[in-house]
This record gives sequence, structure tokens and C-alpha cells, in this order.
Amino acid sequence: MKFRASTGMNSAKFAQPITSNPKMTYLKGSCPNMHIYDAIIVGARVAGCATGMLLAKAGFDILVVDRDALPSDKPHSTHLIHPPGIRRLRDWGLLQDIENSGCPPIHEYGLAVGTMDLMAPLPPDGDVSTAFAPRRRVLDAILLDAAVAAGAEVRPETLATGLVYEQERVVGVRLRSGGREVVERARLVIGADGVNSRVGTWAGAQKYLERPRRLTSIWSYWTGTSVTEVPTWRDDHNYAFAWPTNDGAVLAGVTWRSEDFKRLKIKDKEAALFGVMDRFDPQLAAQMRVGERIEEWRTGSVPNYFRESFGAGWALVGDAGYCRDPSTAAGITDALRSAEYLAEEIICAWEGKVSEEQALARYEYRRNVRQRPIYEYTTDFARLDPYPSDVLEIMTKASSVPRFAQGLTGLFAQTQDPLEFFSPHNMSQILRETGAPESFRIGALKAISSPNVYRLPGVPAVMRAMLASRLGDMGDYLREAERARNRWRGMTGWQSNPELLEEKWSTPAS
Ligand SMILES: Cc1cc2nc3c(=O)[nH]c(=O)nc-3n(C[C@H](O)[C@H](O)[C@H](O)COP(=O)(O)OP(=O)(O)OC[C@H]3O[C@@H](n4cnc5c(N)ncnc54)[C@H](O)[C@@H]3O)c2cc1C
Repeated sequence: MKFRASTGMNSAKFAQPITSNPKMTYLKGSCPNMHIYDAIIVGARVAGCATGMLLAKAGFDILVVDRDALPSDKPHSTHLIHPPGIRRLRDWGLLQDIENSGCPPIHEYGLAVGTMDLMAPLPPDGDVSTAFAPRRRVLDAILLDAAVAAGAEVRPETLATGLVYEQERVVGVRLRSGGREVVERARLVIGADGVNSRVGTWAGAQKYLERPRRLTSIWSYWTGTSVTEVPTWRDDHNYAFAWPTNDGAVLAGVTWRSEDFKRLKIKDKEAALFGVMDRFDPQLAAQMRVGERIEEWRTGSVPNYFRESFGAGWALVGDAGYCRDPSTAAGITDALRSAEYLAEEIICAWEGKVSEEQALARYEYRRNVRQRPIYEYTTDFARLDPYPSDVLEIMTKASSVPRFAQGLTGLFAQTQDPLEFFSPHNMSQILRETGAPESFRIGALKAISSPNVYRLPGVPAVMRAMLASRLGDMGDYLREAERARNRWRGMTGWQSNPELLEEKWSTPAS
């Protein structure tokens, strides 16, 4: 399995650090009288407007285009934002606008599965431990206003139809609006154009670590229920969720494995949803029946992939560069994070501190290091495979100890690194405090309850192997991450050496 940087790069195609007249130097000889933006961003929603806002705030000349009329809703999203996303919105001065929209804060997440009935406070990201689920018409409008206020030019109802190249470098975009086609030029073209990005396709960006679509969801909005936090439920067939949003409404939905959903050919969505909700939470189902469904039904699923996210004159951000099953409600949080990483790295390059190639390589690397464990956790969760009985026993016991329960909610809320949670050290602590399942009381693990036993030679490896064999995709990744750590031990300085970066991305085949 390869986890790697964009291929086919030729350093000569990348811009050199800027001199006194950056635009002239950069595209010397191409078309001296034409306006050249610093960046043109295709897609004006979460990733596009956040990136545009951050670059415009730093003083750069930014054009953001979107084929949609704006501001507008994006109906195919259940729009829950975890604390790391909320922390960024707060840092950018936008959280107040979300609060002012009447969207209530969320403080706890839960998961009921088999014997476990978890509901615990969210571990914080920095000093932010709340989530919100603002309607997309609210969130996207706030980000759009912020991009415009920062000085970005935004053109709605403008379709990008292709990239413009000069000597194998992207130098602009073809845009169609009101029946007119124009070419706009930029130092960098950024695809923030969502799932299966056209900018990515035109640039030849390859997907990697792809996984099949896992789950398909149906959902709608109700009034008259008392959901104030985020309860979720799961068994071997379905996953279900509910959370509060704007206008006193609650979003509630149910998912099936995508192949089951296709086979079932569900016509009556109301009956299908209540069939599952009655099983998971009869009390909430009864409330929803008495309450009123105030919107039409929505259906959605997404593919799972990472995608090469930069090349000469172009970059991808948000879903365009990385996309995962919506069951862990991660897309907006991830898009805000990748927008921040990309903007930070581009600013470094445009301030002349590093080359554009280094900056963009660093962006993709930072994103991947942060997102990969979440990706593995998500794609594994979304299989809906039954938890092995000993894993469920550990989770059930852990959920009764507040700090471990918070760790479990943090896996979903992106404030608990899955690699740390499933580390031998943490597992050993959980097992010591709550007691090991029968199947763990073997061999080297017999002494699990004695302090620091996990430090004895061989014990962590046995524990990791036992856990990995029970944790699906996440387990494979735990093994891979451990091998990679061994291989890279002592390596430093990747920041200034793209070749080393390449080395770090290439993990041993598993
Ligand atoms: C069923 C479902 C449930 C989800 N639930 C959640 C959730 O609860 N929480 C969460 O965080 N995420 C959720 N997501 C994911 C989330 O919606 C996305 O991750 C998020 O919208 C990504 O933002 P983005 O800015 O990258 O892309 P998008 O929001 O998709 O925006 C891309 C924009 O690009 C524009 N565009 C595309 N092509 C062109 C072109 N050629 N020219 C001009 N404009 C173009 C589009 O019009 C669009 O406005 C869910 C997704 C689905 C499908």
C-alpha cells in the first residue's frame, strides 16, 4: 500500500521564491497586461471560502468562483462540526455568528452498541469543547461573508470548465458565466470543488488509499423532540444519529451498508427510519412521531480516498483532496483544517521563506499525517462489522470510567488521536483499571494488571497484535504505523527536504 506525494513533479515547473515584482517574474513573457490573481479558488463553500479568507486576510489577491448561486444551502450534508472545526471558526472570529444564528452548542456525544451505552463530554481541542451543527445555508453564508470581508473577490454562478497551462504549469482557469467564457490567470489555482474534484481530474491528480463506499444515509429534520446532544446507535445492520440544529429543529437519520441500501430499494423512507429508530431508541422514535417532520427526505453517501493534492501551479483542498465516509461527520472539520494548513504553507512560500514546491508538499504531508488515523478509524467504523466480544467488553467497561469514556467520544469528535487511544500504553491502563477480558489473560498478557507490564520486551507487540487483529482497517493501520515509526526513528528535518518527505510517505507494503 502506497501513501505518497504527488508524482510526476518537475521542480523546474514550480515557482521560484518571489522577487521584487512577483507577478511579472512569475509569468514573465506570458501576457504582461493581463490581471494575474495570486490564487483562483474553484468552489466557494467550506474549504474554498476558508482558504480564500485566510489568503485574502494575509493581503493576497484572491478570486473565488462557484457554479452555484450564493449564498445557498448545500442539502447533502448533516453538517455536524467537531471541536477542532469549531476552534478554528472561533479563532477566525466566526463562532459568534454561528451562535447568533440560534444554532445550539453541543457538549456530549454518545454511542449505544451492544452492551455499551456511552454518553460523555467532548474532550477539548485547545480550550474549545463544544460542537455545533449549523445548517449549511448558515455556515456557508458566514464563510462567504468572511472571505468577501477579507478582500477576496467572489463570483457565484461561474462554472470552471478547464485549466490553462503554460509549459506544463497551470497558469489559469477557463470560466463560464451567463453564456460567456473567459480565462482568468493566477499564480496558483486551488480546487476546492468537492468530491471527485474536476480541477483534480484536469490536473491528473491520482487517488490513493481508496476504499469502497461504505454507508448510505437517509435523514430529515423534526420539531418537537428533546435531543440536545449527539446520541448515536449502531448494530450489525444500521447506524443512526440525531443532533440539534438551527430553528429548534433536530436532524435525525439512519444508515445502511451501501450494498444493502441498494438491494432494499427503500420507497417508504419514513417507515424505514422508524423501523430502525424503534429498535434503537423507542422513546425518541415516539417523540419524533408526535413531533413534525419539517423538511423533505435527503439521501447521501460519499467515496473514500486521498488524492494527490498539488502540482505545478495547482493544489486541492477539502473534499477535493481527501474524502471519507460521513458516518463520523468529519468532512467540514477536515475541510477547515486543510484550508488552514494550505493557507499557512502558501503564505510561507509567497513570503519567500520556502519554495512553492516545498510548501505544497508540506501541506499534503501535514494533512495526511493528521487525517490518516481518522480516515482508518472512519472507514473501519463504517463497515458496521460486529465488534469482537472482547473489544466490546473493553469498550463497555471503558465507557464507565469518565476519562476513558471521554477518550471514546474523542475518537468521533477528532479530539482523541486513534493511534494514542489504541496504543499499548493506553490499552494497558484501561485493562488495568477495568479488568482484562478472558481472551486477553493469556501468555505475556497474563500479567496485564501489574504496573508497567506493557513496557516489558515483547508485551506491547503482543498487545498490538491482539488489538490489531480485532480492529479491521484501524488494526492494519496500527501495525503499519508502528512499522513506519521504527523505520523513521531518528529522522528529522523533513520540513526542508522534499526527498525525505517522499521517503516518509512511502510506507512498507502491508
Ligand atoms: C450524506 C452526507 C452527510 C454528511 N455529513 C456531514 C457532517 O455531519 N459533518 C461534516 O463535517 N461533514 C459532513 N459531510 C461532508 C461535508 O458535506 C463535506 O466534507 C464538505 O461539504 C466539504 O466541503 P468542501 O468545501 O470541500 O466541498 P463542498 O462543500 O462540496 O463545496 C464544493 C463547491 O465546489 C463547487 N464546484 C464544483 N465544481 C465546480 C466547477 N467546475 N466550477 C465551479 N464550482 C464548482 C460546488 O458547486 C460546491 O459549491 C456529509 C456529506 C454527505 C454526503
